[in-house]
Amino acid sequence: SVKENEPDKMPPLSAVKCRRKSVADPEINKGSKRLSCVAKPPDRQTKRGKFGEASRPNQKFYEMIQHFRETLEITPLSTTDHIEPHRISVCVRKRPFNKPEITRKEIDVVSIPGKGALLVHEPKQKVDLTKYLDNQVFHFDYSFNETATNELVYKFTAKPLVQSIFDGGMATCFAYGQTGSGKTHTMGGDFTGKQQNSSKGIYAMAAQDLLRDYNGKVYDLLNKKTKLRVLEDERQQVQVVGLEEVYVTTSEEVIKIIQMGSSCRTSGQTSANANSSRSHAILQIVLRRNDRATTMHGKFSLVDLAGNERGTDVSSNDRITLVETAEINRSLLALKECIRSLGMNSDHIPFRMSTLTKVLRDSFIGEKSRTCMIAMVSPGLASCEYTMNTLRYADRVKELKGNSKANC
Ligand code: ADP
Ligand code: MG
Repeated sequence: SVKENEPDKMPPLSAVKCRRKSVADPEINKGSKRLSCVAKPPDRQTKRGKFGEASRPNQKFYEMIQHFRETLEITPLSTTDHIEPHRISVCVRKRPFNKPEITRKEIDVVSIPGKGALLVHEPKQKVDLTKYLDNQVFHFDYSFNETATNELVYKFTAKPLVQSIFDGGMATCFAYGQTGSGKTHTMGGDFTGKQQNSSKGIYAMAAQDLLRDYNGKVYDLLNKKTKLRVLEDERQQVQVVGLEEVYVTTSEEVIKIIQMGSSCRTSGQTSANANSSRSHAILQIVLRRNDRATTMHGKFSLVDLAGNERGTDVSSNDRITLVETAEINRSLLALKECIRSLGMNSDHIPFRMSTLTKVLRDSFIGEKSRTCMIAMVSPGLASCEYTMNTLRYADRVKELKGNSKANC
């Protein structure tokens, strides 16, 4: 049985180091995994307005974080950086502030100093009310800061998986994170107002790469929100009954289908994230050898997951919401377990734990299966708790690989 709502039990972070500038700051105490930054005594406190801005809530923490950042060596990922092949890769992307966050002078608590490193500056208070920062370091295969484009993210995440489809393998790419952290933006493309530019998303970029030099076929899972059943046949093959598949030969056709699917996903919604944050969206691109071939050569599953924040939200009294929440929790837990089993080359992949993992069953089997997870985080202090949950989940997925890197 699956326990819902149980937060990840995290083992302590392995000794991680993050390169700091040599200007040693006595205020910042050293620690292998957590770096604390204590507020200066009152007489030495920086006056408001030091940064030419009006005061903001948590001004003190803002200044402490700025101060800490000045000590960081920052070398962001660039397009020319080397891409290492990974069977399972775990990456993280921080989105920029949105307008409301800028208006309310939200504090940015996430720093991305290096190519795979990420720091969360968690504001804390001692019993004597002294404010301090709990600076927590995470390491992933790649970390993308708020200036990273979808093109850059694609290049280091889904693109390296494309070739494995042609080698007859399965590839899966997940967008994970809190609602509003940028999953749909990353997978589906740019949304400005009611306009959507699907050609700027990972879905479209993967489709373009799959169809650029090769003539393949693409099938879309979305079918006017028709209720479909997931069944297992006598050979234990999972079937999505009545699934709409569309034969295509160009990436333009795929983009049109994505557009259709995306508008179908969001139709009837009152706000941008109302329903879509409660559902997982999957685009599967299937390669077959020729028109009539029924056997699949390779398959790329691109997944925009439901928001993970409900895992901690137990405030709702609405029964439907509670049932939905349980299903989202179950599927995200199952997903993590399946990826872990894949990473450990286990014979037993617990895909039956949820509908999501049943549908994605193919993705977790075979020597050639490859997986990439992009964990999305919001920059703001208000999201700090969700950000930590997302990073812990990603850390847990990554942990199994046994090749954690110690440098930023
Ligand atoms: P999610 O799908 O995780 O709920 P969205 O992708 O809908 O989140 O993003 C929420 C909002 O933030 C959208 O308006 C989106 O355009 C914006 N956004 C997300 N990521 C970025 C980014 N990297 N750059 C610019 N805007 C972004
Ligand atoms: Mg979304």
